[in-house]
Amino acid sequence: MSADNYRKCPKCNATELERQDKAKKAAEKKYGAVTPEEYMKLLDKAKPQSLGETLRENYELGIVEDGRFFLHYRASCDRCDFDFNFSHQVQANPPHALTRGTP
Ligand SMILES: [Zn+2]
Repeated sequence: MSADNYRKCPKCNATELERQDKAKKAAEKKYGAVTPEEYMKLLDKAKPQSLGETLRENYELGIVEDGRFFLHYRASCDRCDFDFNFSHQVQANPPHALTRGTP
């Protein structure tokens, strides 16, 4: 089985939250020093921006004929350098359970 999926990137999300925080602090520093209109413009820069679903996930899992269960997962972002790989396999059944007994 193989599948692809898109979702929001955790690194892009963290970068966006940091950007919002910096913009909000920059606006707060100017409070009272600029016109209300300019202050509101600065606050607008702190509004959340839509990031979209840029994290592509590919994964494959299953059981092969010798009884091993495997999982391969990769997630990488189209926008930033976020990249994550995970692979694991385990014997699904004890090997003796897979051998045929005498009839
Ligand atoms: Zn990203």
